[in-house]
Amino acid sequence: MIGSGIGGLSCAAILARYGFEVLVCESHSIAGGAAHSFERNGFHFDSGPSLFSGLSSPSPNPLRQVLDAIEVTLPCAQYDTWGCFLPEGNFDTAVGAEQFCEVLQTLRGDRAVREWQNLQRVMEPYAQAAIALPPAALRYDWGAAITIGQFLPSLARHGFAMGKLSGSFDRILREAVTDPFLQNWLNLLCFLLSGLPASDTSAAEMAFMFADWYRPNVKLDYPIGGSGALVNAIVQGFERLGGKLRLNAHVDRILVQQNRAIGIRLRSGEELRARRAVVSNASVWDTLKLLPPDALPERDRTQRQATPACPSFMHLHLGIDGANLPPNLACHHIIVNDWAAGITAPQNVVLVSIPSLLDPALAPPGKHAIHVYTPGNEPYELWQNFDRRSEAYVSQKAKRAAVMWHALERIIPDIRSRCEVELVGTPLTHERYLRRDRGTYGPAISAAKGFFPTGTTPISGLLCCGDSTFPGIGLPAVAASGIIAANSIASVSQHQALLKDIGC
Ligand SMILES: Cc1cc2nc3c(=O)[nH]c(=O)nc-3n(C[C@H](O)[C@H](O)[C@H](O)COP(=O)(O)OP(=O)(O)OC[C@H]3O[C@@H](n4cnc5c(N)ncnc54)[C@H](O)[C@@H]3O)c2cc1C
Repeated sequence: MIGSGIGGLSCAAILARYGFEVLVCESHSIAGGAAHSFERNGFHFDSGPSLFSGLSSPSPNPLRQVLDAIEVTLPCAQYDTWGCFLPEGNFDTAVGAEQFCEVLQTLRGDRAVREWQNLQRVMEPYAQAAIALPPAALRYDWGAAITIGQFLPSLARHGFAMGKLSGSFDRILREAVTDPFLQNWLNLLCFLLSGLPASDTSAAEMAFMFADWYRPNVKLDYPIGGSGALVNAIVQGFERLGGKLRLNAHVDRILVQQNRAIGIRLRSGEELRARRAVVSNASVWDTLKLLPPDALPERDRTQRQATPACPSFMHLHLGIDGANLPPNLACHHIIVNDWAAGITAPQNVVLVSIPSLLDPALAPPGKHAIHVYTPGNEPYELWQNFDRRSEAYVSQKAKRAAVMWHALERIIPDIRSRCEVELVGTPLTHERYLRRDRGTYGPAISAAKGFFPTGTTPISGLLCCGDSTFPGIGLPAVAASGIIAANSIASVSQHQALLKDIGC
């Protein structure tokens, strides 16, 4: 396995569960890829994801199914409130559909509430359809006919809704919603899920989100110990099953002989042979860099290289003095500066996460750890020519970080005087620490035009998983991609036994 992102670790965990001998080679000194945590002066920071759901009890979330398959538990704190700073005003809202009605009533009145309630009804069959076929049933060979077969009755029941899940969410949105605020809000949710607006976000992805988030009394999860605790739980589970993880093990070549992946070569020159398969969790662009130049047909290489990429991120990690913070502060906040600018516009949307409010151990006593970021909307082009040691880079960092400071000042007005640790990350940081081409959030594949590609390659014994493969970006999706790649290496009978054990 090349890479220990959540996609790679999920694949490794399921392979270990199947009884394969698994070695994960991770370039970085910390496992987890975009989901790794790091520590500075006693503050524990998430480098990436902060929104988790369906982890604390059995759920259709493939990530939870990975945890179940390797029998690890992940203690989570639960919460249900977000802070919103939108052009319409500032408010806290509970995640659930019912509670959002109260916000709508205040902001937009009866008609918007009725549209929202109608949308919940419209989405119900799609939400059911989206979970009718668990991704864990999929594999990339003929055996899929058998493993999917057992779900045919439920697929048939949802046949009509299934049809609509293949396009973009925009079609459903435009039919059901006319209120401009609601349209903007749903467009924002699409952007947060996929890095793309509603017109390019998959209806299936949104339907899955509706199934997960808009249940009565829903609560979201936050792993105690942060995203790194999730990573550690999977690593511990798969190591217990005999799997091995090597950190600081940068792969610089996938060894290919007679169109078969036979192993990998590390930057140190060490060569490692693979008995069954090599699986790459690196992005599509980064995987191409590892292949011998003539390993792929030219057309295939060009096509993969041309995969459109989402922009990158700006990050602000702060360790602050927590004395006398505003009361009832929510852990997560969304700031949208201007709907008219477009949801994907650079510096328009800012996310703030203060996870030490849910898990105080993430910061020294009386302090808090904060992660602010501009989600997948920072153009790499603005950064690509900077030398990271130059004065110009420092000043560009200050300039482009200002929007995150302003956002945070709306939540904690005296934030600047509280700071004890201050780290600004740019697309170059993202590229460097996450080993991701151009620091991208992932492929920008429009659901209106097609699907994410499968994890298969024309090279025998070489599979891919992670957010460059089906079903796409985000923790549940990359966990699913890892499970599917692992299933494709296992026998059908092993696969069927796993489905039974994880309750699918
Ligand atoms: C700031 C941010 C916030 C996010 N928020 C959320 C959220 O709230 N909820 C959510 O569900 N999703 C969120 N996401 C998306 C989610 O985190 C990612 O989609 C997911 O973690 C990607 O996992 P992956 O396994 O595909 O890839 P990665 O995490 O990129 O892992 C790939 C791994 O491969 C390694 N690698 C690459 N090349 C090599 C090589 N040559 N040799 C060895 N190792 C190599 C890398 O070092 C890395 O560890 C967020 C992402 C970011 C960046």
